[in-house]
Amino acid sequence: MEYCIVGNSAAAIGAVEGIRKRDKTGRITVVSAEIYHTYSRPLISYYLAGKVKIDKMYYRPLGFYEHNGIRFIGGKPAAALDTKGRKVVLACGDEIPYDRLLVATGGKPFVPAIDGLDKKNIFTFHKLDDVKAIEKALDGRARAIIIGAGLIGMKAAEALSCLGAEVIVVELANRVLSSILDEQAGALVRDVMENHGIRFVFENTVKRVLGEERVTGVELADGNRLECDLLIVAIGVIPNTDLVKNSPVPVNRGIVVNKKMETGLPGIYAAGDVAEGDDAVLGVRRVIPILPNAYRQGEIAGLNMAGDEAAFSGGFAMNAIGFFGYSIATAGVPGGPDYEELAVLDPDERTYRKIVLKNNRLVGFIAMKDINRIGMLTGLIQEGTNVGSFKEKLVKTDFGYLDWPCELRRERVLAGGGL
Ligand SMILES: Cc1cc2nc3c(=O)[nH]c(=O)nc-3n(C[C@H](O)[C@H](O)[C@H](O)COP(=O)(O)OP(=O)(O)OC[C@H]3O[C@@H](n4cnc5c(N)ncnc54)[C@H](O)[C@@H]3O)c2cc1C
Repeated sequence: MEYCIVGNSAAAIGAVEGIRKRDKTGRITVVSAEIYHTYSRPLISYYLAGKVKIDKMYYRPLGFYEHNGIRFIGGKPAAALDTKGRKVVLACGDEIPYDRLLVATGGKPFVPAIDGLDKKNIFTFHKLDDVKAIEKALDGRARAIIIGAGLIGMKAAEALSCLGAEVIVVELANRVLSSILDEQAGALVRDVMENHGIRFVFENTVKRVLGEERVTGVELADGNRLECDLLIVAIGVIPNTDLVKNSPVPVNRGIVVNKKMETGLPGIYAAGDVAEGDDAVLGVRRVIPILPNAYRQGEIAGLNMAGDEAAFSGGFAMNAIGFFGYSIATAGVPGGPDYEELAVLDPDERTYRKIVLKNNRLVGFIAMKDINRIGMLTGLIQEGTNVGSFKEKLVKTDFGYLDWPCELRRERVLAGGGL
């Protein structure tokens, strides 16, 4: 069997490991646009901040490809698919035949059409080469502007601030991390960031980039101008479906797959940030761009490519992140008018915990600073447990199994889940 995997990150590695569970000898070719050994993308901001070296970023140890009998083709992007001839065509013209193909090309930064974005010292923040280029461009106490206060923009802000840069973040929403945090939680993180010297401009955006050859500043939508030496565009990530663009592989926002992670075309699978899987909480198909989800989808795809009958049971948004040592954990839905919310806030301690419910089922939570017991909350979301009789206890940070009603504990033990 000839397997070809395009991509070399979490979903691709999940697929290799899935394939090798069933098929120890089939030939696997991994094609990667990046030259590097597989690395953990969330660590790039720590690399920039000088907190981790490249050898501590590897997602699997050196020797992984040899150990798994993989032909690794690095630094050579795949340019097209020949689905009739069952070949992947690389930009350099080489062709890779396949019986089973996985598209694991992940996401790519969304870069809006802003006037002047072609100047020097303007970057995205998505791959190791991006942060290496930023590192090179940094000169003494640089002034940096970051467009976007989502996860990636905030990680970039933290890293640059650690390096002594003056950082301003420009954000369209009225708070940081608006897709995963509510206003209270957003205010707590903002406070942490501002205490480290990071400034924010909310409800505004960059209309024009200023400078001759290199960026010297930006003009905002409200007409104000800010000066800078470098600009980072971190507005969002979109599925990188370029490879299948001129092929019959069905694409919605991401590549459309079934529970086996198979596309509409026989033998072609997709997984990770490029694919639309089931969101178990929202009950819709969508891209869930987080690393554990990418790995799991890749593993399911790999198992099926090797002849298994594995199904992706659905994932949901989940984040455990930190800024300057301040911890945040979120999962599922952040709240809103259609949901019941229970919350405990202590602004002095900067602690906050909120649970989000629908029909007495936990569908989301936000935990700030003290993130104890979030594993248990995540389990309750996953299992769809009716928490109606003990929901008030779920906002406590010392919530434990003894707070569960007796019969639920008994049920769990009988089901073999243990306590
Ligand atoms: C700064 C940052 C911080 C993050 N923090 C977190 C976090 O805290 N927690 C979390 O869960 N997630 C986090 N994420 C998201 C996480 O990194 C992604 O969800 C995950 O890496 C997706 O894995 P993937 O395999 O689907 O794709 P990707 O990691 O995007 O990798 C896709 C790979 O495919 C390659 N590729 C693309 N096109 C081609 C082509 N045509 N030919 C060959 N190769 C190609 C790319 O070069 C890339 O190596 C973060 C992301 C960033 C950028």
